[in-house]
Amino acid sequence: MRRMTVKGKLTLLITGLMLVLVAAVLAFLVNITSTVVEENAQEQLETTLRANLSEISRAENGLLDLGDGFAFTRSGVYTLIYSESGALLAGQPPLSAPEGLAFGNGVLRTAGGSDAYYVLDFWLPFGWDDGVWVRGLLQVPEAADVVDDLIGIALLLLPLLVVVGGVAAYLLVRSAFRPFDRIAATAGAIGEGRDLSRRIGLPPGGDEITRLATAFDSMFERLERSFEAEKQFTSDASHELRTPTAVILAQCAETRHAETPEQYRQAIAVIERQARKMSDLIGQLLQMTRLDQGTLRASMEEADLSDLVSVICAEQPALPRGITLEADVEPDVRAVFDVTLMSRLLQNLLDNAARYGRDGGHIWVALRRTAEEIRLSVRDDGIGIPADQLERIWQRFYQVDAARSGSAGTGLGLTMVRQIAELHGGRVTVESTEGAGSCFTLHLPPAAP
Ligand code: ADP
Repeated sequence: MRRMTVKGKLTLLITGLMLVLVAAVLAFLVNITSTVVEENAQEQLETTLRANLSEISRAENGLLDLGDGFAFTRSGVYTLIYSESGALLAGQPPLSAPEGLAFGNGVLRTAGGSDAYYVLDFWLPFGWDDGVWVRGLLQVPEAADVVDDLIGIALLLLPLLVVVGGVAAYLLVRSAFRPFDRIAATAGAIGEGRDLSRRIGLPPGGDEITRLATAFDSMFERLERSFEAEKQFTSDASHELRTPTAVILAQCAETRHAETPEQYRQAIAVIERQARKMSDLIGQLLQMTRLDQGTLRASMEEADLSDLVSVICAEQPALPRGITLEADVEPDVRAVFDVTLMSRLLQNLLDNAARYGRDGGHIWVALRRTAEEIRLSVRDDGIGIPADQLERIWQRFYQVDAARSGSAGTGLGLTMVRQIAELHGGRVTVESTEGAGSCFTLHLPPAAP
């Protein structure tokens, strides 16, 4: 059996609730109606009887004198007058009236069988030991009749109500669910056709469904962006790998015609350089992807950053082109970091400072701690970066000028530096003046006390 849709369930629920509600109101009405009908009848009996009482008096001759306002039957109320001993003096009781009922002054009772009557007696005294019993009789009204009518109407109306209510509930639920249909359709289209540019695009509004749709839209937006970035990355990576591969192949072709050992040696040197570049590139790509995907587990621990910076600076191999390095490290700066990743970050900055430094230039490394942050900066007096390129140097494979990077550059170093900084909850900033030098600074949050 097909499972019922949420729309169907909701429609059924609303219709059912409506039915229960209507039935409850009906039951309440029936109850109230019978009570009101009975109370009205009792009030009618008492008022009519009291009106008649005031019209009864004893004449001079000892007979009863009934005034003009007296009526034996009025509004269904029978008035009967009995002697003290219970003999009927005046009035005609209805045929089905209860008989032989004892008198009770001012006491309202119900008596009789199938035709029940309200009975109310009053003792009307004319003197010390003289008086009459005045009895009022009123047939207990058939509240059931009214109730029957009500139920009749209800039985007629209820099916109509169910149909109308059901249709209204369905329309309501359907319109409330329309945005969900759009969400499902958009997600489906994206899933099947990989058309990541599709959006749900609900008109702005504050309700929950609109918020859900907006959240989905921004998720699709992010998916599209990361998908595009992925595509860009793949194309960039293959492009970057193609160049050294082409050089290697060209060298191999050339080597076939080499005649002297020197020519061989040169060709092999080129091949080795290009192969190393490829190997570096692949290694860096692998690490970056792992960082991106979070598969490269950072093992964060609180440690002495001063020690790490000092050791790395001290262990720098002889820097090229007579460049010298000075380290100004504040002692005992503790931070939470991954030793391997932090070493790679610093090494990348040092490599760049050396690669883009001027002959006989300087590199200054400084580690400082302030109340707000820990700052690690690597400054050089090299060629600097043009102001309009400062934003782009963080992009994958971006090189200000491939020629000046030499064969060692891949354009991935700074991307990784930024990734590592962010992994540590920090950020990297750069200040640079073309021709004067650059300063890269890592800002890290201080270690929790
Ligand atoms: P690369 O492998 O080319 O050095 P990076 O991502 O490390 O790639 O750097 C991107 C670009 O930023 C480099 O091509 C270079 O032009 C520029 N750059 C990075 N560091 C410096 C620096 N210290 N001085 C001048 N330019 C720099």
